[in-house]
Amino acid sequence: MGVGASSRAGAPPKSGFASSKYVYAFGGGEAEGGKSWLDVLGSKGSGLHEMSATPGLSVPPGFTIATTACEKFESDEGFARNALWVETLRGLGDLERKSGKSLFRAGCSVSGPPLLLSARSGAAASMPGMMETVLNIGLSDECVEKCLALGLNARWVYDSYRRLLAMFGDVVLEIPKSKFDKLLTRAREETGAKTDADLSADALKKLCDDFKRVYTEFGCDFPQDAREQLRMSIEAVLRSWNNPRAKTYREINRITGLRGTAVNVQQMVFGNLNENSGSGVCFTRDPATGSNEVYGEWLPNSQGEEVVAGTRTPQTLNELKHRHPNIARELKDVCRCLETTYKNMMDIEFTFEDDTLYILQCRVGKRTGHAAIRIATEMVGDGIVTEEEALKMVKPEAMEQCLHPVFVVDKSSSEYTSRVLAKGLPASPGAAVGAIVFSANEAVRYKSQGKPCILVREDTSPDDVGGMHVAEGFVTARGGMTSHAAVVARGWGRPCVVGCSELTLNKNGARFGHTGSFLRAGTVISINGTTGEILSGKFDVAPSTMDTFLPLRTLTSWIDKNRRLDVRANADTSEDARCAFNNGASGVGLVRTEHMFFGSKERVHAIRQLVLAQNVDDETEALEKLVKFQHEDFKSIFQEARGKPVCVRLLDPPLHEFLPSGKTLEDSSNSEDSAAAIARYVKMSPTEVIAAVDAIREQNPMLGFRGCRLGCARPAVTRAQVRAFLNAAIDARAQSNVEVCPEIMVPLVSFVEEFENQRDLIQKVFEEVNARELANRREPLPDLSIGAMIETPRAALIAGHLCAAGAKFFSFGTNDLTQMTLGFSRDDSSSFVEEYKAQGILQADPFETLDAGVAELIAIACSRARRVNPAVQLGICGEHAGDAKSIQRISNLADSAIDYVSVSPNRVLPARLAAAQAAADSASDDDDTGRRRRRRRRRQRRRSTKLKDTTRVLRIRNPRPDA
Ligand code: ADP
Ligand code: MG
Ligand code: MG
Repeated sequence: MGVGASSRAGAPPKSGFASSKYVYAFGGGEAEGGKSWLDVLGSKGSGLHEMSATPGLSVPPGFTIATTACEKFESDEGFARNALWVETLRGLGDLERKSGKSLFRAGCSVSGPPLLLSARSGAAASMPGMMETVLNIGLSDECVEKCLALGLNARWVYDSYRRLLAMFGDVVLEIPKSKFDKLLTRAREETGAKTDADLSADALKKLCDDFKRVYTEFGCDFPQDAREQLRMSIEAVLRSWNNPRAKTYREINRITGLRGTAVNVQQMVFGNLNENSGSGVCFTRDPATGSNEVYGEWLPNSQGEEVVAGTRTPQTLNELKHRHPNIARELKDVCRCLETTYKNMMDIEFTFEDDTLYILQCRVGKRTGHAAIRIATEMVGDGIVTEEEALKMVKPEAMEQCLHPVFVVDKSSSEYTSRVLAKGLPASPGAAVGAIVFSANEAVRYKSQGKPCILVREDTSPDDVGGMHVAEGFVTARGGMTSHAAVVARGWGRPCVVGCSELTLNKNGARFGHTGSFLRAGTVISINGTTGEILSGKFDVAPSTMDTFLPLRTLTSWIDKNRRLDVRANADTSEDARCAFNNGASGVGLVRTEHMFFGSKERVHAIRQLVLAQNVDDETEALEKLVKFQHEDFKSIFQEARGKPVCVRLLDPPLHEFLPSGKTLEDSSNSEDSAAAIARYVKMSPTEVIAAVDAIREQNPMLGFRGCRLGCARPAVTRAQVRAFLNAAIDARAQSNVEVCPEIMVPLVSFVEEFENQRDLIQKVFEEVNARELANRREPLPDLSIGAMIETPRAALIAGHLCAAGAKFFSFGTNDLTQMTLGFSRDDSSSFVEEYKAQGILQADPFETLDAGVAELIAIACSRARRVNPAVQLGICGEHAGDAKSIQRISNLADSAIDYVSVSPNRVLPARLAAAQAAADSASDDDDTGRRRRRRRRRQRRRSTKLKDTTRVLRIRNPRPDA
């Protein structure tokens, strides 16, 4: 939350009363404390203090009882009755002087309207509606009588009194609120009043008597002494910090480390005084579109939160302009003033009493992604914020809203919420609609009939990729944010919900546990990958606005001026690459060759032939086919890249992933995946196929025969891939007249010897290809960069040795590195990770946000690598690269300075923003030494980059330092 940190900055706020420890006054021209005292004064309190000190704003005076008092109250409730009460009374005396009014005392005469007070809760973190507030404190039977005798507006007096009686009863004495509500409804019905505002003074007087009878019914007394009311209200507000509702809210929203709630005691102003009074809420700009117009709602003759309570239909600001032009004009000025003070779009609560405007609360306003981007860019134009400040105002997720289709319907409307069937993890954002299908084959069938579908499965495997490709989106019952379905979905920008534990599947259909709905194949559902919701039926979807939304372009131009980290993309096809470069990627950081093998039936056949090959001839035949497919794919990616680096990873996954599993294999219906069908193109009998698949199967495939272990054991596979890649580079260059910048990455390295083995194979092919080009009087390839993927802790530790062995770059595969460092399976850990989060053992899923330990390992690898080769290129691929918090962590790796992150094509834009924000953050808390160190590093790197131009990348001898 970062909440606790703020209080440590700055000097303590001066208190209006020299000896007070817990009470801070605001208003009347001598406000103390402010934003930096968030932790002590709470957000409402610090807002009130700061606003009171801002010229041009009217804020009723008051004082704040600090959160530290709440902390003390938790262990000693008596405190509120002695030490704290003494200070409170002193604060009250001060407030009476400022307001020129007094709290009513029994037996005293009154010469004007008495001072009434509100006691308002407010912690450092926003917890809307979770804690309590009491309004109109100070009225009593005797006070009411004296006000009437003075000739004050009787309707206002009784309206305020009935509100106090109901709120005090509910909040302080815990009398059910419904008791009062029922009587209020009855009063309206009996008098024919359409709304509460139409109730006459007499009706309200009777209501007050009815309310007092409720007190009697519950054996309670309404305290007639104003000070007693205040003391009890303050205690109730302090107690509300620990009411079950507030506690649950803090748990769900992971709000920790706060001291408690502050209590703001403030002079009341009255929106319910007469027809020239009212109350409302507004945003300084439209929170839906971001347009620069004050947007809000209000109600004449009202108090507190009636506007949002929904009992009366609120009116528009146009209506306000029409009926109270002065107030409307003043409100507009106040909005401008608050925007320049807070440098943000604000959400305001206001009240006007007899044509005088007061501001009662202000906080940063929530907004849609589109609004966020528009507001940030327009505020730079308005001279309110700098470009850098504008960048920090937009959350990276906001950019995603522009990239993906979204549901048109209001997500808080009952039309939407009533149709939620279940909720899972929001694995890949966007909206999708289609008929449920339960298998990849079924998906393909639907697609061929032109019908959109959503693939719903227990989980997915590479087998399903064909069907996944034609589906609008996916839902899985199991798996976490890095499960197969999640990774594939993000790669393709397809909406996806995973780990939906409320979903159970059987052969007839899907049951959604929470709602109990049972849906068969073919039923239309909608999924919201941004929130993880699965909804019944069809919703309208609006397309991406990426290309048409001008403020987005403005913002991205600023992003690139500010960031240090490059953003590349993971791309397996030319469409991926096109999308990535459209979004501004600076290269392809990861081509996963294996994904190319699922595109068509022929490709699947060829890879299976390779996996099951029993002799060199079979292997060669299969490889020739694969090389042909890969050549085309690689070529089109180079064409899209136009000279930007393209980094391909050699074959990585365990081989069994290319083969169907037990039951499917033995399927006698002779489906595409049955042993009988496979036998036909691998030249084996069905029994032999089953036996061969069995032999390949591993107990723990993620730690098994995969990565460069495959390439070392079957060198022909590496050679064929490298040949395909380099020939594709040559052909792309010749056919499309583009520069090429090929990089080859060796996956899952643990030993220098593994790297050397693959390096030699790659180098040999490179030399052969170039020799052939020269012989044909064609230009050879300029350069080939060979590097390693760092995915095991051992690889991280020997990064220096790998550099010495000629590795020109490293890409940290943080999915595997997290899995292997923590010993958490990336496919199965979500169940206990959730439990760990609930218990506070983990703050975040380490597969979502880079774990500090893994980050440290990366830092070690980086510094060891840079010591041997300062010019080594360091990148991060894996899911973390697209997570803003992880990017922050990565940018903070002091000395190691990662050069780039590589993310899904659709995450490029948000990642660019996150990189710019991280750079802006570290620039602001940069000390001189840091800057000097970085400058030195940059110089060093520039020097060694020059060196690189003269030494051929591949000619390095392998000078291994002895250590
Ligand atoms: P919440 O934290 O739920 O927003 P508040 O403390 O803001 O609760 O109080 C709710 C409403 O009560 C405010 O929106 C405001 O309209 C009204 N209110 C609070 N204090 C005063 C006051 N001093 N004068 C007039 N209205 C007030
Ligand atoms: Mg409020
Ligand atoms: Mg890996």
